[in-house]
Amino acid sequence: MTLLCQKNSYLRDFKDAAVKSVQRGKIALNGSSKLTDGYDVVLEDTIFFPEGGGQPSDVGTLDSHFVSSVRRDGEQAVLFIADECAKKDDGGDVPPPFKVGDKPVQKIDWTKRFDHMQQHSGQHLITAIALKLFNLETTSWYLGVDSSFIEMDAKEISDETMEVIEEKVNEKIRERVDVLVTYREPDNLGDVRFRMDVPEALRGGPVRVVEISDVDKNTCCGTHVVNLGDLQAIKLLGTAKGNKGKTQLHFVAGGRVLKYLGLAVKREKSLTALLKCTPENLEPMVDKAQKTVKRLHKNCVQCLRDLGKLEAERLLQTPEDALPTFITLHRKEGEFDFISSFISSIGTNLLGGRLFLISIADDSLTAKSPGQIMLAGEEEYVKKAADIAINQFAAKGSVQQAKFRGRVLDVSKLPKLEEAIRSTFLKNVPNYKE
Ligand SMILES: [Zn+2]
Repeated sequence: MTLLCQKNSYLRDFKDAAVKSVQRGKIALNGSSKLTDGYDVVLEDTIFFPEGGGQPSDVGTLDSHFVSSVRRDGEQAVLFIADECAKKDDGGDVPPPFKVGDKPVQKIDWTKRFDHMQQHSGQHLITAIALKLFNLETTSWYLGVDSSFIEMDAKEISDETMEVIEEKVNEKIRERVDVLVTYREPDNLGDVRFRMDVPEALRGGPVRVVEISDVDKNTCCGTHVVNLGDLQAIKLLGTAKGNKGKTQLHFVAGGRVLKYLGLAVKREKSLTALLKCTPENLEPMVDKAQKTVKRLHKNCVQCLRDLGKLEAERLLQTPEDALPTFITLHRKEGEFDFISSFISSIGTNLLGGRLFLISIADDSLTAKSPGQIMLAGEEEYVKKAADIAINQFAAKGSVQQAKFRGRVLDVSKLPKLEEAIRSTFLKNVPNYKE
């Protein structure tokens, strides 16, 4: 059976079809793993498109009840009304929204539906042109919320190929080519591109064919524009890696082109305001800014290395017997270069019989930028202190060559870590000095 939405895809509302059945139902909405309770409503005929052929289902209303999903069951469409969308009576239970024979007003969310029609017809057009000009076979497609993609049987699609496809599909839109829906017997499909998007239940009988006059003939159950002029424009956005050896070609069609352009202009305005330049200068400005950041970072690392060395030299100038057993050093800002430079400059003399705890941690510590610590010195002390850091303070890391290098997730606990190391074993070691 052909549904009304497939006979006339431009019907936005309809009221002359009676309710055939109303039953309790349960479905997972919007990819949720939780099932939603409600009612499954089947009408004699419907302008609601059930999901199929890569096109999502319509949403809309039946009288005042919101239809949140439509699915195909054999030859009929099942409209789902969730309990929260139905009016509850005093008894608490949600009563059936209709009885058999009622003729509720069907109203689809036309903005959403027309958008789906533009993307779906756009997909047929891109698929046909890519096949015709470059022998690129479409293997599947996905209609997304913001952009869609067609998966093509090719390892890559060059920018030049995309440019030609984009130019050609927009040329066809300007030519205002008609899009027709015809029905063919299954044994009369010789000139038709056969896709697997016709539901099982509809195979065997007359097959629905969507024809873009002299461009493409394709079996399809979806709703389409009647003329390519309704697509306004198609913009190919780029490619991405698809399934094994395949490439996704991302695109927007119709109203989405303007929406995409609107967002791009808004972003451009924000960026030009931030960088204080014209749109033409954005690229060289960002390039310059990135190079400057790189240079400054390099300088900063060198400064930290020098600082680590200076801190070490300061200690080396102090008479050895005036130095404490436990030496701690903390920097709020820094990189590991500071620690490694400090340790290598200290040399082996001062490490024996002592424990060094050096830490770098931003005050605004987050899981993504955890503080770094290093324990170095007398091997036995390092091992014991590392055990405390790991087991009592959730530090992550390991001891290698008498050094523990690790991360701490909570910098505020560093003073407690110092205290634990001191009180647990360090203050009892021979010749301990405060
Ligand atoms: Zn289709």
